[in-house]
Amino acid sequence: MLAMPRSNNLIDTATLLATAPWQHEKPVVLLKNVMRLTAPNPGMMTGPGTNSYIIGTADTGYIVVDPGPNDPAHIQRLFEVTKGDICAIVCTHSHADHSPAAKPLQALCNAQKTAQPLIHGLPSGEHASSNSYFVPDETLQNNELIKLVSRRLQPDSYTLKVIHTPGHAENHVCLVLINDSLLFSGDHILNGSTTVINPPDGHMGDYLDSLDVLTAACAEHQIQHILPAHGYVLDHAVKVIAHLKAHRLGREEKIAGVMQADPNGTLDDWVAKAYDDAPKHLWAVAKRSLLAHVEHIRSKK
Ligand SMILES: [Zn+2]
Repeated sequence: MLAMPRSNNLIDTATLLATAPWQHEKPVVLLKNVMRLTAPNPGMMTGPGTNSYIIGTADTGYIVVDPGPNDPAHIQRLFEVTKGDICAIVCTHSHADHSPAAKPLQALCNAQKTAQPLIHGLPSGEHASSNSYFVPDETLQNNELIKLVSRRLQPDSYTLKVIHTPGHAENHVCLVLINDSLLFSGDHILNGSTTVINPPDGHMGDYLDSLDVLTAACAEHQIQHILPAHGYVLDHAVKVIAHLKAHRLGREEKIAGVMQADPNGTLDDWVAKAYDDAPKHLWAVAKRSLLAHVEHIRSKK
């Protein structure tokens, strides 16, 4: 494989891992070529809000990853931060807190004649719910490279690699910023909560397999930091993924035990026992992941 030039951007771990209070009005500069602008949609399912990542510089133009919900103020801020110089809009998946801003942001750039960005991603899968129906302008391929190229003489270019990671959603992709060894994990890996696997668009077997794919990507690209769509940057990428997988498998073992003890039980019976360590108000959501585990357990028989 061709060696990618690393950016001169020595990673300032302290900046990357900064945990200043969330604010939605201004982006947080994580590196000279990576900013995080958090949408004002905090909630149980979104944590402090959806992180839109802005990759690039005034020289290269920008890629916006996960423009977020259709929130006019957030879209306007994405436009202003980038001065509308957006080369591409990438959606990690099509859930309502990630992709609906893509078209209005694109339309704003077109109307202001600042750029003509295409929307990149994977079309929503056949089981996706109606509120996450999505058709990109450009369908991404696994391992595809998306490039930002310098418009000056000195080479300042950035490359994102696409990794198809079904599990949380069938059309989910993660992205590696190769120059800086960063993993943008969308909702596959979060900070502060465990992502929900909601069948049939969500699939536990795929989710676990995708974790293995990400572990391999971390080794290949020496990735240390994970930038999730919800929550702060995570350090020790490989350890985080290993921990996450162990957590899921531990939960699955517990669920298998609960099913064995009460084979005729309903999902409601099982969730109370299998998630007895989680607050009761989360059980309705946990029941979706429970179902994903149940299907996974039964598929192995
Ligand atoms: Zn999300």
